[in-house]
Amino acid sequence: FSVDPAARNPGRQFVAGKVPLGLKRKGLRVLVTGGAGFVGSHLVDRLVARGDSVIVVDNLFTGRKENVMHHFGNPNFEMIRHDVVEPILLEVDQIYHLACPASPVHYKYNPVKTIKTNVVGTLNMLGLAKRIGAKFLLTSTSEVYGDPLQHPQVETYWGNVNPIGVRSCYDEGKRTAETLTMDYHRGANLEVRIARIFNTYGPRMCIDDGRVVSNFVAQALRKEPLTVYGDGKQTRSFQYVSDLVEGLMRLMEGDHIGPFNLGNPGEFTMLELAKVVQDTIDPNARIEFRENTQDDPHKRKPDITKAKEQLGWEPKIALRDGLPLMVTDFRKRIFGDQDSAAT
Ligand code: NAD
Ligand code: UDP
Ligand code: UDP
Repeated sequence: FSVDPAARNPGRQFVAGKVPLGLKRKGLRVLVTGGAGFVGSHLVDRLVARGDSVIVVDNLFTGRKENVMHHFGNPNFEMIRHDVVEPILLEVDQIYHLACPASPVHYKYNPVKTIKTNVVGTLNMLGLAKRIGAKFLLTSTSEVYGDPLQHPQVETYWGNVNPIGVRSCYDEGKRTAETLTMDYHRGANLEVRIARIFNTYGPRMCIDDGRVVSNFVAQALRKEPLTVYGDGKQTRSFQYVSDLVEGLMRLMEGDHIGPFNLGNPGEFTMLELAKVVQDTIDPNARIEFRENTQDDPHKRKPDITKAKEQLGWEPKIALRDGLPLMVTDFRKRIFGDQDSAAT
C-alpha cells in the first residue's frame, strides 16, 4: 500500500500537474457535479470564462438545462446526465462536488435518496478523485451545526444535530460526506477542500423550491401573501451567489483544507427579511403566518474570521443590493420577458 495516488495508478496518463510532455493544456479540466443547479451553474460560468474545460455531471433532479444552456456548443463545455450515486469514469484536474438537493422541501421529498446522494455519491466522487489524482472540493453546509448552541458559528463548533429527525438525511448526510472527505485525505493522501455554505440566494434559484428567499420573492411578485413560518423571529444570514462562487474558487485554489464557513454575516429574522422584500418589490405585500417545520434551527450566522484570514475572502454584496438582482431574474421567469420589460 502506498499513499501516493500516482504510485497506485501507474498506468494513468493524465495526472493533475503531471501532464506528459507535448500534452500541455491551457485551462484546467474541471468537473462540477450538480452544475446545472443554482450555485453550480454560476460556478460553471466563472470557470468557463476563465478558460477551463468544464464537465457538468447532473441528474437534473433540481437542476435545469436552462441554467447552462448558454454554454451548449462551446467545445470547452460538456454536460452529462448522470446520477452520482452510480460510479463514473472521467479524467479531470479538479472536482467541485455540489450534487445534492439543497432546499429542505427537495431534500425531504425522498430522504433516503438524499442520504444516498450525500454518502454514496460523495464516496464515488472521492473514489474518482483518488483514481485520477484530482483535487476535490465538497460543498457542505451550515446545517452541520444543526440548531446551534453557539452563536455565531465557528468552524471548530461540532454542532447540535438531531440524528433521527426529518432534516437528518441532509445534515447527517453532509456530516458523513465531510467525514469521508477527511478520511480520503488522510488515507489516500487526496487533496481536499471543505466549504460550509450558509443560506445563499440569487438568480436561477428554482422559483418554487420552498426556500425562504425564493418563496418571498415569488410570492411578492405574484401578489400573494408572504408565508412566514412560526413567529418569524428565527434568523438566517443571506449570501449573494457571486460572493459564494468567489469563495469556492479561492478555496479550491488556496492552500487550506478547511472546513471554511462561506456566508454573509448579516443576520436577519424572517420578519426582517419579509420587510426587505416588501421594500424591494411591493410595500403592500401582506404577511401570512404558517406553522413552522420540525427541527427548524432558531438562529444561524457564520463567523467568517477563518475565511477572511486564510482565503482573503469576505462577501461584498449586502442583502438589499443583491435582492434586486434576483428579482429581475424572477420577474422574467414568472411573467416572461415582455411583461418584465414593461414593469
Ligand atoms: P440545487 O438544488 O439548485 O442544485 C443541486 C444540483 O445537484 C441540481 O442541479 C441537481 O439536479 C443536482 N443533483 C441532485 N442530486 C443529484 C444526484 N444524485 N446526481 C447528480 N446530480 C444531482 O442546490 P444549490 O443551492 O445549487 O446547492 C448546491 C450545493 O451547495 C449542494 O450540495 C448544497 O447542499 C450546497 N449548499 C447550498 C446552500 C444554498 O443556500 N444554496 C447552502 C448550503 C449548502
Ligand atoms: N469510483 C468511481 N469512479 C472512479 C473510481 C472510483 O465512480 O473513477 C467509485 C467506485 O465505484 C467506488 C467508489 O468510487 O464505489 C470508491 O472508490 P475507491 O477506489 O476509493 O474504493 P473501492 O472501490 O476500493 O471500494
Ligand atoms: N421560511 C419561512 N417561509 C417560507 C420558507 C421558509 O418563514 O416560505 C423559514 C424557515 O422556517 C426557516 C427559514 O425561513 O426558518 C429559512 O428556511 P429555508 O428553507 O430557506 O432554509 P434553511 O436555512 O432552513 O435550510
